[in-house]
Amino acid sequence: MTRALRGSTLSWKGTSGRTRDEGSGLPQRPISSTRLSFRAGHRVRGSTAARALLDEDPTTTSTTSTTYLKDFTLEELGDYCEKELEEPRKRARHVWTHLYGDAYLKSEWEDEGQGNGEDMGFSQRFLSKVGEKRVEPGAGMTLTDSRSASDGTTKLIFQREADGLNIETVLIPVDKEGSKPRVTVCVSSQVGCAMGCKFCYTGLMGLQANLTAGEIVEQVVQAKRMQRGTHLPVTNIVFMGMGEPFHNLDAVLKAIKILTTESKGYTQFSQRKITVSTVGLVPEMRRFAQETDAQLALSLHATTEESRSSIVPTNNKYSLKEVVETLEELFPKGRTKGSHGRHVLIEYVMLEGVNDTTSDAKRLVKLLENVEAKVNLLVFNTFEGSPFVPADMDAVKNFRAHLVSQNLVCTIRDSRGDDKMAACGQLGLGKKKKTGVLGQI
Ligand code: SF4
Repeated sequence: MTRALRGSTLSWKGTSGRTRDEGSGLPQRPISSTRLSFRAGHRVRGSTAARALLDEDPTTTSTTSTTYLKDFTLEELGDYCEKELEEPRKRARHVWTHLYGDAYLKSEWEDEGQGNGEDMGFSQRFLSKVGEKRVEPGAGMTLTDSRSASDGTTKLIFQREADGLNIETVLIPVDKEGSKPRVTVCVSSQVGCAMGCKFCYTGLMGLQANLTAGEIVEQVVQAKRMQRGTHLPVTNIVFMGMGEPFHNLDAVLKAIKILTTESKGYTQFSQRKITVSTVGLVPEMRRFAQETDAQLALSLHATTEESRSSIVPTNNKYSLKEVVETLEELFPKGRTKGSHGRHVLIEYVMLEGVNDTTSDAKRLVKLLENVEAKVNLLVFNTFEGSPFVPADMDAVKNFRAHLVSQNLVCTIRDSRGDDKMAACGQLGLGKKKKTGVLGQI
């Protein structure tokens, strides 16, 4: 069913790396970049291929720096105020309120149509200092476009100022009887992705850049801003946009810390409202479970080593067996000590003739017999050039029926936003720079 993808080398200008300011030790980001080139991740195969995918690192060096405040945790912001701006530490709380409270700062020191920094209580002396030091409240990215699908799903497209690469974010509304009206924001953690899953449009791009914590946080802030004043507040965050979050785990963990920081008694998001998806990078799964109470989603997608390796190349490095054993360790059945009472969400995309049979359903039950898990069956969102087609809906329903009969909680997740390429696995069309990858499928 699958067709071979031909390999080639990609080149681009990338600026995903942060530098450390020698004086303060605090993170800064470059505004100019170094040209990089490397082999696109999805084009190499086998266990060597999997190692190559995971070793890619598009970090670059800088020549001049801008400080983006959304890269800071509250503690780091306090350090920066004291050491770099020679301001009292409490200034950090003041700034934080305007970064994440109701009166959002824009990328400049002004709020939305309500005045400049002085109107927000910042002294002229403070504003002069942040101006001199190129301190910006934004994250070095601009919202350039938004596209709404017929079901209300909206894709936001941001452009990074440093390199022109696009970041895509999806707002998924729930507005139906019996459910609390809300929006889930699906954020990207990378531009493109090195994992190369064969059914995923983003995977075809290869990895182009790691996002910083600030760029991840800014996606949520902008989504909240869009929904402000509507009856659909942003209540949940899922890391299921472009990229493999565990391939950029430092930035993801830092973003979660920033997004869950309590300030003046107001916590932005509970960790339980944040879900991070991984294709199964085992060491990072363990680290994630140790360092956060956010929820984990595991993209399993197959029930045999052979079939998983054929659609998820990282299976050649972290096998199905190893991934399931790790789940048994982190989410043991019965929610015993050490499991934090959590379950893992198993993501399973239904592909016709690949993984949609009753035998697959039976094997999936067996694989998860010692794991506290819920299963999400995903309706495949096809795209031009895809070698796969969605499983027949009867097959999806039969698959679910078997899981439910074996006491597994299982839902079928509808495709959302696919008429605007805003659906799961479809992100990547909005990038400014064409790589020509699609022409080679
Ligand atoms: S499914 Fe996720 S991990 Fe796989 S290529 Fe797509 S974005 Fe990357």
